This record gives sequence, structure tokens and C-alpha cells, in this order.
Amino acid sequence: MQDLSNETMLHVKKGDIEYLQFRKLLEYQDKVEHCYTLKGQNNDYAKEEANNYTALYKVMNLDIEGFTKIEHQAHSDIVEVVRKKQEFHTNIDGLLTNKRGISLSLRFADCTPILFYAPLKNAIGNIHSGWRGTVQKIGQKAAIKMMQEYGVNKEDILCFLGPCIGKCHFEVGEDVKEIFENTFSYLGNSEKFIAKGEYKEEQKYFIDTTFINRKLLEEIGIPSSHIIESNICTVCNSEQMHSYRAEKEKAGRNTAIIGLK
Ligand SMILES: [Zn+2]
Repeated sequence: MQDLSNETMLHVKKGDIEYLQFRKLLEYQDKVEHCYTLKGQNNDYAKEEANNYTALYKVMNLDIEGFTKIEHQAHSDIVEVVRKKQEFHTNIDGLLTNKRGISLSLRFADCTPILFYAPLKNAIGNIHSGWRGTVQKIGQKAAIKMMQEYGVNKEDILCFLGPCIGKCHFEVGEDVKEIFENTFSYLGNSEKFIAKGEYKEEQKYFIDTTFINRKLLEEIGIPSSHIIESNICTVCNSEQMHSYRAEKEKAGRNTAIIGLK
């Protein structure tokens, strides 16, 4: 497999298990562990059962007993706090915790994973921000909830925008383009996040959701240097990552995990 490492991301290979990590978050590896899984030889996470993750957790040195998932990610703006192990969550799109031994596991195929880590309060978050979640500002709402819940200052939060469908591939029609334009024109000139293109004589639009997610976090005072982008497009790399746009209904899911040791 091609090594996907870049300035912000590290491609880890340990036997059959491969995943991506944010270099910046590795600075806190004694307290927090994380990964974004890749299509692997034997690491099939198609069914999200804790026992499918046993080998991965072992490699990451995380406790599988603390595995916490969302039963159905609903493209909502709802974020919940996990207070104990084996908690059950359904029909929401974000989890926060400050409990050691708990890990937050969400699944993605083109949608943006937003991971949070607040080093001073040792609190984490894992957010599923598809285009609908982005329009509902779930990343911003999750960061605000994290600050309120744990007393985190806006200067003390690190945000990681993971691999997702990039502006190179997120082509939308007039209807979705208008939703983005109407919702986010206040963030600045819409040409910064909507590019025009032509395809078979039809007008097409390409949306940059990473730019929007960054602006939404900056809007509430998070320093721009604390917002780190993966710069990896899931569609461009669909040989190594599951992508709904590239594989349609057959697409599997990539799992983003963040856990406190
Ligand atoms: Zn792309």
C-alpha cells in the first residue's frame, strides 16, 4: 500500500494493521491514543462489534472494555457526553468524554471526522460531520459543549479535521450549493468555499467543507494554529479508504477512534 504520510499525518503499519495518525496528537500519546483506519488486509471493520477491534486496540494499547460507539449516526447536530464504560448511544453524531479508559469510535465514508483534545483538562471528542452536520455546525457546537462541560478554555483545545471528501471531489448540484451559500456567506466571500466547474455543459459546484469547518471553529475563538487538517481526500485515495462517492452502496466504513489511556 502507498504510504499516505504527509506533513500533518503519519501512516502507521503494524503487521496487517494500518492506520493514520495526526502527528500533533502523537505529542500527547502518553495520555491519549487515536487512529483513522484504512482498508487493510485483515482489518475488516465492516461490522462494528467490539471484537472486530480487538487486534487494533491491542496495537494501540487501548482497553477494549472502554470501546464506545454510536449505534446509528444520523447526520444530526447532537453531541452527548459519555460518563461511564459500556454506555449506549443511538441517533447522534458526536461523543465527548474525560473518563480515562474510555475510547470513542465513529465511522466514516467521505464525511469529516473532527477529533478534539483538550490537554489541560484531558478531555476528548469525536464528531461525525457530513455535509448535513457541517451545515448544522456540529463541530462548532461540540467544541462549545466541551468548553462548557469540562471548563476548557478556547485556547486550550486542539481540533483535528480528518480525511474526508475534498474540494477536488465534493461536487454538488444547485440545491446543495444554495444551502451552503445561504448558511455560510457570512463567513466571507463564498468563492472561498464554493468553486464553479463545468461538466457536460452543465454548471457544477465543488464545496470545501474543511475550509468551512475550520472557519466555524475559528469563529468561536479557537486559534487557527490549533486546527489541524489531514489534507487527505477519501475519494482521491479510495483504493486505501472507503469512500461513498467512489463506491456507492458497496462502500465500507473507515473508523476514527480517540481514547484516553
Ligand atoms: Zn479528491
